[in-house]
Amino acid sequence: MKTHLAGQTRVGTFKDVLHLPELSEMLISTTKMSDMGVNTIFTSQHADLVEAHPRNLLACAIRDHNLYRLRVTIHKPEGAHIARNHPTSKATLELWHHRLSHISEDTIQKMVKTEAAVGMTVVGDGSRDCSACQKGKQTRNIILHSTEERATEVLGRVFSDLCGPMETPTIEGYQYFVTFTDDYS
Ligand SMILES: [Zn+2]
Repeated sequence: MKTHLAGQTRVGTFKDVLHLPELSEMLISTTKMSDMGVNTIFTSQHADLVEAHPRNLLACAIRDHNLYRLRVTIHKPEGAHIARNHPTSKATLELWHHRLSHISEDTIQKMVKTEAAVGMTVVGDGSRDCSACQKGKQTRNIILHSTEERATEVLGRVFSDLCGPMETPTIEGYQYFVTFTDDYS
């Protein structure tokens, strides 16, 4: 990244950083900075980042409400970093099963044995039954569209069905409706 101070631009690199993609702001730890030999001097208006040896003002963060904002430009390398080695990924059979769209454990073991996937390691032994897979294999009983015998009088047999909750409630605030169908009439 580049910092700007009194018309001067400095290029520096932050090391030992934590990547938090969901964080809306980038935060600098003043204690980490002092471990690196850069002290922070706070005033009510700004915070100065000062190199300890030799004493040298590096950057100035201007106060914005309760934060001191450091104006930096992210300096992107021109070329992409290409990984040269293949780091191995260790996970349990259960986790591989989830990662690989619920494929069978035999297939996972085969992939590891035949090195079909590079850098894949299974740790621990057998997995527990996967509830998602069990649900996927379940079938429900058929609901017949007609009954074998019919009612012989009004209200002899009434079919009822409840529907809801609906995503959008009615103006009156209702989210369900129920139907009653008389078999005879
Ligand atoms: Zn599964």
